[in-house]
Amino acid sequence: MIVTIDGPSGVGKSTVARRLAQRLGFGFLDTGAMYRAITFCSLEEKAPVGSEAFNNLLQKIRIEIRDGEVRVNGRDISGDIRTGRINRHVSEVADCPTVRNRLVEMQRQIASSGKFVCEGRDQGTVVFPDAICKIFLTASEQVRAHRRALQIGGDTKAEDVLIEQRQRDQRDAQRPTGRLVPASDAHLFHCDDLSEDDVVDRLEAMIREKIDRQPP
Ligand code: C5P
Repeated sequence: MIVTIDGPSGVGKSTVARRLAQRLGFGFLDTGAMYRAITFCSLEEKAPVGSEAFNNLLQKIRIEIRDGEVRVNGRDISGDIRTGRINRHVSEVADCPTVRNRLVEMQRQIASSGKFVCEGRDQGTVVFPDAICKIFLTASEQVRAHRRALQIGGDTKAEDVLIEQRQRDQRDAQRPTGRLVPASDAHLFHCDDLSEDDVVDRLEAMIREKIDRQPP
């Protein structure tokens, strides 16, 4: 049984999806972390997308995601994948069809072990077209950038976050497969004027209604 949560960067998908998974007793799959993990390895090993070294890396990579911890071939890289450098390079890696095929396969395999809330860009459209409930979270780009700047802290300015966020969203929305677009049967959920608790409460109610309507 799969619930998908897709949407643009900075909309709060990960936090909302993690909390929903806890409330529902489902596993949680952060697919953005998988694209980030490959980006990290590509930069660290100086193996640019499309190179032979990159293809070798992709063959050998083993990604484990558990309780917010991301491991690649056994090494914990959770703290290394959420940096400005990774943000700037991740969309290029995510454009690569070989990467997408490999990750789609891994995501399906992970989720086949039980009930999951899966979060990303293409979860409702490509990876789990038969998901029991598909949600597409949105918020205005100003609100998203403002929240992200607060999250990063220090003297991060919302204007600077907005520029990078806009570039990433545009690129994510344009790739030929797995692009950022709501599935035709997704619930569009706009969360500008709602607190995080309100978003989680409403989505939980919506998902439980769907689950209750499932034939036994
Ligand atoms: O969600 P997050 O910001 O961690 O995702 C990082 C990047 O990974 C996105 O900007 C996008 O390029 C890529 N991605 C993707 N498909 C997914 C999840 C993430 O292409 N399912």
